[in-house]
Amino acid sequence: MEQQDSVSVLKGIGPKKKAALEKLGIRTIEDLICFFPRDYQDRRRIQSIGDLTEERPALVRGRVTAVKDDPHRRGGKQILRVLISDGSGKLEIIFFNARYLAKMFRPGVLYDFFGKPAFSFGKLQMIHPDYAPSEKGLEQGILPVYPLTAGISQKELRGWQKTALQELSKIREYLPEDIIKRNRLCGMEYAVRNIHFPEEKAALQAGKFRLIFDELLALQTGLLAARYMASEGKQGLAFQKNAAEEHYIKTLGYELTKAQRRVVGEIKADLESGKVMNRLVQGDVGSGKTAVAEIALYKAVKNGFQGVMMAPTEILAKQHFSGLSKSFEVHNITIGLLTGSMTAKEKRETLEKLACGKIQILVGTHAIIQPDVVFQNLGLVITDEQHRFGVKQRSALSQKGENPHILVMTATPIPRTLAVILYGDLDISVIDQLPPGRQKIVTRAIEENQRSLCYDFVEKELKKGRQAYIVAPLIDESEVLDVKSAEELYRELAERFSGYTAALLHGAMKQQEKDTVMERFYKNEIQVLVSTVVIEVGINVPNATIMVIENAERFGLAQLHQLRGRVGRGNHQSYCVLISKANSEVAKKRAQIMVDSQDGFYIAEEDLKLRGPGEIFGTRQHGVPELSIADLARHMHILNDVKKEAGRIMIEDPLLESEKYAELRQRVSKLFSDDFSLRL
Ligand code: ADP
Ligand code: MG
Repeated sequence: MEQQDSVSVLKGIGPKKKAALEKLGIRTIEDLICFFPRDYQDRRRIQSIGDLTEERPALVRGRVTAVKDDPHRRGGKQILRVLISDGSGKLEIIFFNARYLAKMFRPGVLYDFFGKPAFSFGKLQMIHPDYAPSEKGLEQGILPVYPLTAGISQKELRGWQKTALQELSKIREYLPEDIIKRNRLCGMEYAVRNIHFPEEKAALQAGKFRLIFDELLALQTGLLAARYMASEGKQGLAFQKNAAEEHYIKTLGYELTKAQRRVVGEIKADLESGKVMNRLVQGDVGSGKTAVAEIALYKAVKNGFQGVMMAPTEILAKQHFSGLSKSFEVHNITIGLLTGSMTAKEKRETLEKLACGKIQILVGTHAIIQPDVVFQNLGLVITDEQHRFGVKQRSALSQKGENPHILVMTATPIPRTLAVILYGDLDISVIDQLPPGRQKIVTRAIEENQRSLCYDFVEKELKKGRQAYIVAPLIDESEVLDVKSAEELYRELAERFSGYTAALLHGAMKQQEKDTVMERFYKNEIQVLVSTVVIEVGINVPNATIMVIENAERFGLAQLHQLRGRVGRGNHQSYCVLISKANSEVAKKRAQIMVDSQDGFYIAEEDLKLRGPGEIFGTRQHGVPELSIADLARHMHILNDVKKEAGRIMIEDPLLESEKYAELRQRVSKLFSDDFSLRL
């Protein structure tokens, strides 16, 4: 058997199993042995029933004392109870809808069971454990638990892994020796064998470390290579080295903050360098990213180029359009708007003006990416709220010019350590300061039984002429259920605030319907907006002063911070009320962080400590591939070593073209396969 053989060389894998395995990304033997367990079962020793605890699955051996086969269904299920005892205690084994097993368990005979114990009404139970007569015995040792898909059982997958590892006489090493030595890694052979069927914990640890290192190395070298391809060596537009932008800054009507100044300086240096700019500007909600973008756009236009700014939603695009139109009017610079909802005629006119250069700055939604959108000479591409766009869209937009400069703006505060990875192909600037005089949003965390007090308070604000956002409970991943609960809440609130207009906004609505609702809220035709979490990022309704968030305990802190940022945008004092159910320590701590701080970066750091990064940021949205074994939050310490190594490789062979890195290169391409514009 060879690593590159198809899995169908294994016994028991026909076309059906093959197709199912393919869903797990497994086609070859190599894919199979690189498909790692998500957990392990410790079946090394038999435990006494008397010592069992609820947390940990356990292997027990006991004599059957009784078999109770209840012929009646209860709650739609037939229940078979097998009582066992080992002298130290009694255990009840439960099987649902499995009466056929009744005959198998004979009283007086010894059986082995492996499962998770649970107490029910004081009785110790195991539901649907693995079992075998003790004379045959259950497989012992540390057993892998794999993620599964329909049509494949744990047992099958274990069996195939075992066979493959037995049949392969040697598992190839692919990392150059110097990398292995420097980082004191175990060999590939040892790592792979022990990640599946570890002989002992220490071997598993060593193997895991090696494989996590590998995955992070592929990730990091991939991102660095992408960045290299995007900028290094590529001739960029060199804007004139002068202080033209100061002229624009004078017309802003306020002083830039120190942080804005610093970031403008970084952008200016990029634009004048002759290399392509690839820069991310991270700044909290309200930190003044738009002004920074405008300054860059101004510089582009003054150098004879066009600029484009892409926003994730129609309403945000319109807001930017009207803002930019105002700002650039005194400079005689023409702004255009392009969105999906424009009529064919409007679009045609815009496209004509764009192609001949009459429109100098185009603002729009992703409609801008369409092939019929042609610029005369595009020099600067800006995307706002970048986390809503994939890497692909960003690069599609930059194809519309000849190596235009790229500026990406995001309000999602990401801890710097993580940002370096998530945006590995971008340089990062941070606006870590708010303009002076910003009000604090008064934040309160309350429990459900105080809800009516909260509504009284909302009503007070409505009476003053203000508006409110109310975010409906989050049920789970299912948008359908969320919508249902939002509808319920909406009906309740429409009644509670009957003197005002309430409206509902949810993700299942058509974009146009959503825009209409937002537009009406913006115009104060709607005072109470009940919404699932779809409230558009960056939307600006200064008259809205209250944000009530139901089920606050279910949101990530970063997300709560984003939501809170919808208020406090005008002159009126604003409020955020977090309603939570859970009164666990962690839930309380999280709520307290929100009450205490308005600093998105601080909140993100704290959030990262409490939860994993995947959960918070949905790393996939950032164009970072799904990792199978590494975890960016937990494995930060490994990442530091990996970064050093990746840096070395970049100096030696940035595109991994040499024989030495041929296999690393293959791994990188595989990791980034589908959704990344990385063609290595
Ligand atoms: P965001 O970073 O969330 O996109 P904006 O660019 O929309 O923030 O800015 C929020 C508000 O702050 C705008 O009304 C803008 O005019 C104002 N602003 C930006 N920079 C400053 C500053 N340096 N001083 C005072 N106000 C500012
Ligand atoms: Mg903004």
